[in-house]
Amino acid sequence: MVSETAIDLVKIELPVDEDSMTLTGDVTIGLVLVDIVNGFCTVGAGHLAPKVPDKQISRMVDESTQLARTFCEKKWPVFAFLDTHHPDVPEPPYPPHCIAGTDEANLVPALQWLENESNVTLRRKDCIDGFVGSFEKDGSNVFVDWVKKHQIEAVLVVGICTDICVLDFVCSALSARNRGHVTPLRDVIVYSGACATFDLPVHVARNIPGALAHPQELMQHVGLYMAKSRGAKVVSKVSFAASKKA
Ligand SMILES: [Zn+2]
Repeated sequence: MVSETAIDLVKIELPVDEDSMTLTGDVTIGLVLVDIVNGFCTVGAGHLAPKVPDKQISRMVDESTQLARTFCEKKWPVFAFLDTHHPDVPEPPYPPHCIAGTDEANLVPALQWLENESNVTLRRKDCIDGFVGSFEKDGSNVFVDWVKKHQIEAVLVVGICTDICVLDFVCSALSARNRGHVTPLRDVIVYSGACATFDLPVHVARNIPGALAHPQELMQHVGLYMAKSRGAKVVSKVSFAASKKA
């Protein structure tokens, strides 16, 4: 574990002020779920799954499930990425994971009901960055088309890993927005309570050839910091209220 002083120091030197947000539906908002699949979330499910129960990951799954339920009740648009790889196409620097056709590449049990919801778009991607992974061979982009179709003005992004797939997607979506490629998207919002990352403490990484240390709490913070530094909003609380227009 990283010493508390180290984490405190990073949080002092790289503060991330998190807002709270109330969703009324007056701004058209879409929920983006990043890779909440067994291969990253379910204990023992594969090379990149937690080896023992993990509080941060469990909380992420619970919070994301609650949010997805509310979005689906309101028939608001939901977009879910599922990391999925062909067995013959590696994804360095990672070991094989989320191979197509295995349970690793499926949504966690708590979210499997999403497959039957009419307001949900599922996108399998074989790429860390979901924005890039949304390109089709003809140059169209499934995420861009989803934003356009529903006239989405803000996306609320949750999932795993905060500093990897969530961050890369957020950065690309922001760059694309800045160049006018994702209209009418204005805001990219990361909800920290429904994001998680994996834990590979330095003393464990030291004994694995080639491994890079990845202490969970520190990297969660760094991921949120990087997202905010690129222009995302970071919120620690999301609530729902009736529309003011009604
Ligand atoms: Zn992958």
